[in-house]
Amino acid sequence: MLLPEHLGKRLLAGSGLPVPPGQLVGSPAAVRSAVDVVGVPAVVKVQVPAGGRGKAGGVRLVQTEADAVRVADELLGSVFGGHVVTELLVERAIAHEAEHYLAVTDDPMRRTPVLLCAARGGVDVEDLERAEPGSVRSLAVSARSAPDVGSVIGLVRDAGITEGEDAVAETLVAMWRCYRDNDAELVEVNPLAVDDRGAVWALDAKCVLDEAALGRHEDLGRLVEECPPPAREGLEARAAARGFLLVSLGGSIGVVANGAGLTMATLDTVHHFGGTVASCIEIGGDNYTKGADAIGLLLEDGGVKSLLVNLCGAFARTDVMVAGILDGLAGRADQLPMAFAIAGTGSAEARTLVHERLGVTPAPTMDLAIQQAIAAAGAGS
Ligand code: GDP
Ligand code: MN
Repeated sequence: MLLPEHLGKRLLAGSGLPVPPGQLVGSPAAVRSAVDVVGVPAVVKVQVPAGGRGKAGGVRLVQTEADAVRVADELLGSVFGGHVVTELLVERAIAHEAEHYLAVTDDPMRRTPVLLCAARGGVDVEDLERAEPGSVRSLAVSARSAPDVGSVIGLVRDAGITEGEDAVAETLVAMWRCYRDNDAELVEVNPLAVDDRGAVWALDAKCVLDEAALGRHEDLGRLVEECPPPAREGLEARAAARGFLLVSLGGSIGVVANGAGLTMATLDTVHHFGGTVASCIEIGGDNYTKGADAIGLLLEDGGVKSLLVNLCGAFARTDVMVAGILDGLAGRADQLPMAFAIAGTGSAEARTLVHERLGVTPAPTMDLAIQQAIAAAGAGS
């Protein structure tokens, strides 16, 4: 779960990181009192779950209160990265010389947390690596005991930071603590600014928490309650209103699977074999009887060139899922190439149903069904 910047900063401040004084506002009028509190010059920042706000004009330096109100008026209601702006963070502007990139995250290959550091922050880390391969340096650290400051200073120097290394290293150690104490998956500060007195400031914060670990953190409950639900638009919103999770990805295969895990694995495998997904919809849990509704929604995506149904039954029977899906396909099956993979409870009955009603033989494995769907999508496009 990605925390909005202002909540990420609250988390960082709780771990002792220096965050500029700031206030969250939702109206131009509230900006006035926020500026009274934080002072000028101030920075007005759109709160949307998207990066690159600086480049897109969503982070604005203002010199006066009137300036702040005018900018807030302009930004509220505008759209950044597909999200309508309803909240702004007003912060005291920090005059600074240098901007660095710092992060703590999981390294799935090394199976440990890693500290990341680059001398030139401010831009997206992906752009950093592209422009200057090797400029982001990493250090694998323990998940249990705090990293030793000496080796973190080594990392900071290795990244090419030659001033205020101690303060930057201490910040990284505090970020590790924030990551560990809150069961975070990512704690990123980009940029960390160094002001003319050598003090460091977290100007931006991106914190991703492990939702599965929230039960261990009563104190995070309130923070999470303040998180706005992810804004969905169009087809995704219509599906959500009917109790489905549908994600549109702009490719060519329509995917129906049961359960979040199987859906994710299906998307990965489609990608692995070189295919692209138009939209995917999940019919796990209570939605296993709602296959017809799911197909109706999925086929509203005009980009679907072939259909991939991947089901694995445990408590929920796959023949019940398939019966719904077949109802949803009634009258549209002729034009749409389809591939099925069905395993688990009720699969023998489900496979028979598919064969009888559609004349399609389900593939013996998920990999084969996916390859069929990719071939069909390619042939149809
Ligand atoms: P992002 O573009 O979405 O990552 O948004 P950031 O919060 O990183 O802001 C973009 C840029 O605005 C930063 O890289 C800084 O250069 C600048 N910025 C943000 N906060 C301040 C501030 O308090 N003072 C000054 N001078 N610049 C800031
Ligand atoms: Mn940033």
